[in-house]
Amino acid sequence: MRVLMIFFDGWGLGANDPAVNPFLTNPMPTLRGLFDGAMPTTGNGHFQSARAALVPTDATLGVPGLPQSATGQTTIFTGVNAPRQIGEHLGPYPNAALRQILAENNIFQQVVAANRSAAFANAYPPIFFERLARGKARRSATSYAASAANVRYRDTDDLRAGRAVSAFVTNDRWPRTPRVPADGADVPVITAYDAGRNLAQLAREHDFTLFEYFLTDAAGHKAKPDFTAHILAQVDELLRGVIDGTDLSESLIVTTSDHGNLEDSSAKGHTLNPVPTLLIGAQREKIAPRIHALTDLTPAIVDVLLEK
Ligand SMILES: [Zn+2]
Repeated sequence: MRVLMIFFDGWGLGANDPAVNPFLTNPMPTLRGLFDGAMPTTGNGHFQSARAALVPTDATLGVPGLPQSATGQTTIFTGVNAPRQIGEHLGPYPNAALRQILAENNIFQQVVAANRSAAFANAYPPIFFERLARGKARRSATSYAASAANVRYRDTDDLRAGRAVSAFVTNDRWPRTPRVPADGADVPVITAYDAGRNLAQLAREHDFTLFEYFLTDAAGHKAKPDFTAHILAQVDELLRGVIDGTDLSESLIVTTSDHGNLEDSSAKGHTLNPVPTLLIGAQREKIAPRIHALTDLTPAIVDVLLEK
């Protein structure tokens, strides 16, 4: 049993209203194909098909205010209700209290402690490692979670070898430093589909693999239809590559998010909507009934991975 988790920042489950929900007005053939041509919305509730399950997942966690990235992600990757612990939704980067929660018993740590292998698939550019060495790197909850478990950060060499995926997926943006040729020619630009295939290959070699994608939240904040369309097409092609490269009889693909944003184009900020937890592949029937809120993801995933 293997799990590939793709964390999409700022992807909520939207209303069944094409005037505000861009998921309804963009093609997304891969996502729709999982649900017999239908796009999941808040109107569907739990959504099962022969290929996948979609579980609306609470991101508000009983704490007033709009959900934010650092608390949402800390909750996803630990199972601890982080906004309740610190008394507010906080983002985008974790503060000391959240970093402490992340360092205690996160999903990477639980997998590694059970002698299973774990990979953090994101590739980081040279400037990140330079800042990290100077103690100046800004890190998201996912990167704190990985480092607490001594799961290594992947770099340009991994990306070039197809053994990592960049935050911009196709590598069309890769931060330049003097060590990297100005044209970035040492890192090939690839399709989102091929990035998905690379991610699936990495996931075949580890028990648990995580990839973090933040452009869904960026597109929600921008609220520009053209950029949103570009991002939704990229997400769909990434998913197609991942699904094509995964043996779904022995692996589970889990996608989830920390809070809504992109699904409502009427506002540029986060929303109170549930987020879609998408389950594709093995053991999804076992996990789906356990997911109600972001707190449920880590315990449910660890249990199926370790076959508890
Ligand atoms: Zn945001």
